[in-house]
Order: sequence, then C-alpha cells, then structure tokens
Amino acid sequence: MKTHPLHQRHERQFDQNRFVYPVLSRRSGGISVGVNLNPDKVCNFDCIYCQVERTSQSETRFVETAALLEELDQMLSVVTSGDLFNESRFSDTPQALRRLNDIAFSGDGEPTTYQNFDKLLEACAGIKRRHGLDSVKMILISNASMFHRPHVQRGLEILDANQGEIWAKLEAGTEAYYQQVERTPIPFQQVLDNILAAARQRPIVIQALFMRIAGQPPSGEEQQAFCDRLREIVSQGGKISLVQVYTVARPPAESTVTPLVDTEVDHLVELVRRQTGLAARGYYGSLSGMSANGD
Ligand code: SF4
Repeated sequence: MKTHPLHQRHERQFDQNRFVYPVLSRRSGGISVGVNLNPDKVCNFDCIYCQVERTSQSETRFVETAALLEELDQMLSVVTSGDLFNESRFSDTPQALRRLNDIAFSGDGEPTTYQNFDKLLEACAGIKRRHGLDSVKMILISNASMFHRPHVQRGLEILDANQGEIWAKLEAGTEAYYQQVERTPIPFQQVLDNILAAARQRPIVIQALFMRIAGQPPSGEEQQAFCDRLREIVSQGGKISLVQVYTVARPPAESTVTPLVDTEVDHLVELVRRQTGLAARGYYGSLSGMSANGD
C-alpha cells in the first residue's frame, strides 16, 4: 500500500536493510521509519496508479520477523541518536526536521494481508516502548480490505494502545469507478463496511488518491458520490479526523494515469469540506510542495 503522500524520498534500501527504511517526510515534519510487510510485492489490489516497481522481482520473498525487528531496533537508534544525519542522503535535512515522527506500516503491498500482522505490531510497539518513544506514532497505511479479519482487528487495537493512526484508502464513490481504479475481486461494499466498523472504534484518516485517466479527471457525479460515501460513514457513527486528497506523484502502473492539476485537487478538497464538514487537506502531484489547502 505504497501510497504515503508524505514521502518525498522513497529509497527502499538503507544499507543492507530489507524491511525497514527511513524517509524524510517534510509534511509531517520529521523522519518516518517505514516497515515493509510485503517484500514479495504481492497485493490484493491492482491499482492502476500503483507506484510499486513490479517489473523486477524482489530477492526477499517473506517477512523474516527476527531480521525485521532487529532492523527496526537499529533504525530507531540510528534516527534518535542523530547518526542518520551523518549519512549522505540525510545530511542536508533541516534542523527542524531532525526528529522521529512515526513508524509507518506500508510497503510494497497491503500490510494487513501479512498473516502475523497482530503479533508483529505488538513486537514493534514493544521496541518503540523500549526506546522510550511513547509519543512517536505508529501509522498503518491500508486499503481497508482486511479490517474484518480477527487478526487485523487485534492489530488495530494494538495501534490504538500505541499512538496509532489508521490511514484507510477510500478513493471512489461508486462500485464501477472503484473497480476501474483498484481492479480487485474484493467488493466496494466490503471496503466501505470495514472503514465504517474501524471508524466507529476510533477516529481514522481517509486517504483518497484521485487522478486523470486518459486525460479525464473523475466526473462530477463520481466526486459527489465520494462525498456521499463519506457522509454515510459519518452519519452511521464513523469518526473521520481528516480526509487527505492527493494525486499521482511518481510513475504509475498504467501510462493512461496522470496527476490531477493543482486546481482540480483544490476543487475536490473544497467539495469534501463543503459537502461533509470534515477536515480535508490536498497534496499536489508535484513533489515540490503542498497545495494551498495543505498544512
Ligand atoms: S493497494 Fe494499490 S497502490 Fe497500494 S500497493 Fe496495492 S496495488 Fe499498489
């Protein structure tokens, strides 16, 4: 679920690491430590805008728990000690951004498909605690397709107890558009039900990537339907703390996909605010900056 809009640098490798990598996240104001639970690059969605490089096969096919936890332990030390900023790729990091903001579970596929998701989150939370990093967030970036599974629900509860944030992907208003974009056998209603159930338990962040397909932005009807779905979640007791509207920033899976222009992002952000009353922020397709609606 590599759709983290905040990431400006995407090196998957850090020295010899295979699962854990540091990212400078200007918008969150610090370093995000990414944890890749899908080294095999397999996903249960096949999004037309996916930015995971799948033309080459990864040498690492499985999560090796002990190695992952060791990498995380070391990475937290490297970031909090400041040693990270002696490394050439991070040496120009502004002083104000030399802080650890979060540990983000995303990677090259859907992280909640990992069978030991809950146990792994518990172990990662333990490492975070041992480092005394109680205020550091644990962010799950997910397509929400597996939230109904018991081991995922346990994982979400572990997040709740450890400064967790759930960033759930919702980027369609209708089944037809959802299928056009996400290309998955999982029904749209399942994703909607899962988001509602999760959002009834704690506030969640909605991640919505919209794009142009063959030069066309999503229709007005689709944008309206998207707002309607958000409103339905809220009216049924779901809590949404923020809607992040963003667009394609790196080469996508399908060449027909191009970014929304900045004014289209702004328009959608305003529509969400007006139609739903929710907080919304926009992120432009360019890597150079945020939208006028951004933080
Ligand atoms: S959910 Fe979509 S964007 Fe995320 S990794 Fe899977 S195919 Fe790519």
